[in-house]
Amino acid sequence: MSDFPRSLLEFQRRFPDDAACARYLAVVRWPDGFICPECGGVRGCLLTTKAHTFQCYDCHRQTSMTAGTIMHKTHLPLTAWFWAAYLMATHSNGISARQLWKQLGLGSYKSAWLLCAKLRRAMVDPNRDPLSGLVEADETQISYRTKDDPPAGGGGRSGEGKLQVAAAVEIQGKGPGRVRLAVIENASASSLRTFLKASVAPGTTLKTDGWSGYIGTPDLTHEPHVVGPMAAHIVLPWVHRIFSNLKTWALGVYHGLRKSHLQAYLDEFVFRFNRRRTPHAAFRSLLGIGVAVKPATYKMLIDAGVRG
Ligand SMILES: [Zn+2]
Repeated sequence: MSDFPRSLLEFQRRFPDDAACARYLAVVRWPDGFICPECGGVRGCLLTTKAHTFQCYDCHRQTSMTAGTIMHKTHLPLTAWFWAAYLMATHSNGISARQLWKQLGLGSYKSAWLLCAKLRRAMVDPNRDPLSGLVEADETQISYRTKDDPPAGGGGRSGEGKLQVAAAVEIQGKGPGRVRLAVIENASASSLRTFLKASVAPGTTLKTDGWSGYIGTPDLTHEPHVVGPMAAHIVLPWVHRIFSNLKTWALGVYHGLRKSHLQAYLDEFVFRFNRRRTPHAAFRSLLGIGVAVKPATYKMLIDAGVRG
């Protein structure tokens, strides 16, 4: 059996109940088998009397599969978490909280929204490698909406209702490799350098439209292509394709993104894009990061503001 289900039917067969989900979380957490965090013992079993908890044969310490993870103190069944993770990871456009609420028959929209928000926290692997080789970089503006407003319109480089987003895309052969996206304060050299420092390895060759903010970025070889705005999509085809896909996705799935959560949505887009050839494996990595990432409180998720 593979590490992850490759179809909805297989998913359904493998995760019929919470015990099956708990056993899978144990495999994700201990790929080489159970290890007791107390005594290091390697013999343990899933308790039938306590939800998703393993007990060590040697010291009898009980270890909850959800404690200290994104699922910390969850009131939802693990099957709901698994369905949500599977749909968010494998559906090419993901799934909105509203769709998830209806599809899974969850008690409230709020619990569906929180489920999605917590899973989004597991979409950035803290150990991911920076982009390298040849990298296209550019910035754009994304419209956002406030609670009930329609998506903001208007133009201009810093118009109201718009946020600046920086992107970097690895070029592998004739196509795109991995991508990074971040909300930036503005298109100044300082904002762009902060983004590049976090996203791109030293020694990378950077391809840009020649915007002054990119010039002289330390540790990078710069390949500026000074062009008029109409031709930028020709010299930087992949970063422009990413921006276009991102905007279409934001409008289609979410009817415009909310300002305060924009970075989390960018992280979700990047997670799926970078795993577009292996969506079913992405389900496993989502749960893998989810059991390694510290839990967030409701307040932390609600307050998650814009960076920078
Ligand atoms: Zn033990």
